[in-house]
Amino acid sequence: MSASNHASAFVPPATDADGRKNLVGLSREELEGEMLSIGLEKFRARQLWHWIYHRGSTDFAEMTTLAKPVREKLADAYIVARPTVVKDLKSADGTRKWLLRMPDGQEVESVHIPEEDRGTLCVSSQVGCTLTCRFCHTGTQRLVRNLDSAEIVAQVMLARDMLGEWPAPPDGRMLSNIVMMGMGEPLFNYDNVAKALKIVMDGDGISISKRRITLSTSGVVPMMERCGQELNVNLAVSLHAVTDELRDIIMPINRKYPLRELMDACRNYPGLSNARRITFEYVMLKGINDTPADARALVKLLEGVPAKINLIPFNEWPGAPYERSTAKAIQVFGDIVNNAGYASPVRTPRGEDIMAACGQLKSASLRLTAAERAAIANVIAEKDAALAS
Ligand code: SF4
Repeated sequence: MSASNHASAFVPPATDADGRKNLVGLSREELEGEMLSIGLEKFRARQLWHWIYHRGSTDFAEMTTLAKPVREKLADAYIVARPTVVKDLKSADGTRKWLLRMPDGQEVESVHIPEEDRGTLCVSSQVGCTLTCRFCHTGTQRLVRNLDSAEIVAQVMLARDMLGEWPAPPDGRMLSNIVMMGMGEPLFNYDNVAKALKIVMDGDGISISKRRITLSTSGVVPMMERCGQELNVNLAVSLHAVTDELRDIIMPINRKYPLRELMDACRNYPGLSNARRITFEYVMLKGINDTPADARALVKLLEGVPAKINLIPFNEWPGAPYERSTAKAIQVFGDIVNNAGYASPVRTPRGEDIMAACGQLKSASLRLTAAERAAIANVIAEKDAALAS
């Protein structure tokens, strides 16, 4: 499957108004090519990499290990760009959500979730999403386009700017982990996501290890093995239902890649072991998927897969078709899964007051009129029809 099957191929030009090219998001080889193209030596790429990705510099004038004429030449031809921060929202629990505007005006959200001695950034891979997971706010939005590698890496760089972590300290970083769990399905934009994550993992730059990166998929079966082989990052699967009948409804991608195929792809995910388990995300929806029978069926489904289950109390959003399960139902469900030998922590909702919790991301206004609700229903119907074809 190619990523472009599911998204507009349009990507905004990576230049500023003066025609200067953005260097963020280029691979090391591409950066070397750029240096040669303006008559500089190849090794300048290594120096630039250090300034851009280790020091977080956006101004060539600061790059003092480069001679002044070299800096001037670079500044004439290139920029080191960041997206514009349109909103910087801080939750009472410390979670931060940034609404970011890209050069073509499209907007995405990234969320930083701090914990005592670490912090996780939830990164978006697309503007909107082609899928229509019924519990997800982003799913009510049309897919506008894929993000390119620069726009994905830039979310990480901008978070480091905001957290004041250039260069990043060896221990106690507040941006220590990444989850590709923001807006969009990352495996429908695999090439850009892979290129961006290789830059993020590079030890001479941003240097976040593959062990601290988790890619979350709704179950794009044909891309899962490649992702494991090439990137070897942790995998999270949005499961949310244990029968095809229910999963077809709440996650329509299941009609294309049903549970049996999904679970086979999980069993075959490269590098899987008891020390490296797949995380299954399971949103708790009152009266829909939260009975003891569902919990027992989940245990059966997971047979043979080193797994951990994240139970996610549903985060409500305006117009949402579901309600959160009761605390009691979540506890009973969790106990059954736990007693079967699977870790099943209940995820504490974070950033609810700024609509930054799981499944709540959407860069549009929150109050829906009847016309807007009808428009959303149309979008969902169109996307379901596209998925079925
Ligand atoms: S849960 Fe993820 S894949 Fe599903 S609609 Fe939301 S953003 Fe898209």
